[in-house]
Amino acid sequence: MSSKKYDYLIVGAGLFGSVFAHEAKKRGKTCLIIDKRPHAGGNVHCEKVEDINVHMYGAHIFHTNDKFIWDYVNSFVEFNRYTNSPVAVYKDELYNLPFNMNTFYQLWKVRTPEEAKKKIQSQIDQLDIKEPSNLEEQALSLVGTDIYEKLIKGYTEKQWGRPATELPAFIIKRLPVRFTYDNNYFNDKYQGIPIGGYNKLTEALTEGVEIKLNTDFFENRAEWEAMADNIVFTGKIDQYYDFQFGQLQYRSLRFEHQTLDTENYQGNAVVNYNEREVPYTRIIEHKHFEFGTQPKTVVTKEYPQEWTAEKEPYYPINDTRNNEMFKKYKDLADKETTVIFGGRLAEYKYYDMHQIIGSALKTVKDVFNS
Ligand code: FAD
Ligand code: UDP
Repeated sequence: MSSKKYDYLIVGAGLFGSVFAHEAKKRGKTCLIIDKRPHAGGNVHCEKVEDINVHMYGAHIFHTNDKFIWDYVNSFVEFNRYTNSPVAVYKDELYNLPFNMNTFYQLWKVRTPEEAKKKIQSQIDQLDIKEPSNLEEQALSLVGTDIYEKLIKGYTEKQWGRPATELPAFIIKRLPVRFTYDNNYFNDKYQGIPIGGYNKLTEALTEGVEIKLNTDFFENRAEWEAMADNIVFTGKIDQYYDFQFGQLQYRSLRFEHQTLDTENYQGNAVVNYNEREVPYTRIIEHKHFEFGTQPKTVVTKEYPQEWTAEKEPYYPINDTRNNEMFKKYKDLADKETTVIFGGRLAEYKYYDMHQIIGSALKTVKDVFNS
């Protein structure tokens, strides 16, 4: 028998840590969650402003094809029927996203799928790309030059702070290309926003679990390690190993929140700004996630920025150099017997919420054999 106080110390109160805590508690294990932020929920955390749930770390739209995961989240909180249909602004023009017949009509006045395919193919034929090896080539060989130049290149290069030729192709594969008049940003079967906001989900997951906020694992590492038989670590994996193979790179963001004395500012939850010259990538109007009718509105501008140690690491940069470095850390992690690494930072993966929940539930299955 161990004399330690908890079975699990969970570093990070985001979705990974919360799902793990819920499942461990259900199996009779004692857990303590610590988080360095002043609130729980990680990047899905919301704050109420003017009676509107404000997504403090950028727009979060839940979507999945997996019925089990959809039923799982709905067992904690009911989801609404929100469907993400962003609009893109390029210079003075507006385009529907993802790339679909509406976009093709707006660009070229083509009305049929056949005309649209012909137009795109004629642009692709002018290029000589056999095996796309980076984001630029991938995008060009999928949608041709016009869409790439207006809607992808500027947005992508400001989002990632690198030329599109130096970015991995998989980033752009997230976006559907459709020859139907369908503005739904996702292909998944299930989609929505928790009614009452994401905090309802994370609070329900961690109900009855002890959480200590404003607590950085690395400030008192030995003390925390002595508290529990096992650790679930959802922070930066390179930091866990004292950066011994070097620092992994991330992309950071700055969010500028504003309350406006108007009922409806932009008529949509998400409006992208695709020109390189506009310094932000999108403006979010939060009330539209929940069909709000409050008298005021809250909007957030999202400014991409280079990550440095004092900033939040939002996106892993999965290029070859970083992936190779991550592999070295992963080899160390695989040898641990009492430490589990999970989540966007510890797995160094561009994971969406449903993938994080899937990964946490798989980890639970592996750890508890049930
Ligand atoms: P996090 O939520 O990052 O939680 C990790 C927690 O660990 C944080 O709270 C952090 O403070 C804490 N922590 C880290 N280090 C330490 C330490 N040393 N000591 C103590 N605590 C520590 N997904 C979707 O499905 N749909 C979307 O529309 C969507 N939009 C997104 C938009 C943006 C701008 C971003 C950045 C992400 C988006 N995501 C979206 C992804 C989603 O946020 C993640 O998949 C999910 O929140 C990751 O959960 P996590 O638990 O892995 O990490
Ligand atoms: N993207 C783009 N134009 C857009 C929207 C997205 O070129 O109007 C590209 C960009 O490279 C971005 C990627 O597609 O990083 C993924 O977009 P998504 O909206 O899925 O990103 P996230 O919500 O994760 O920031």
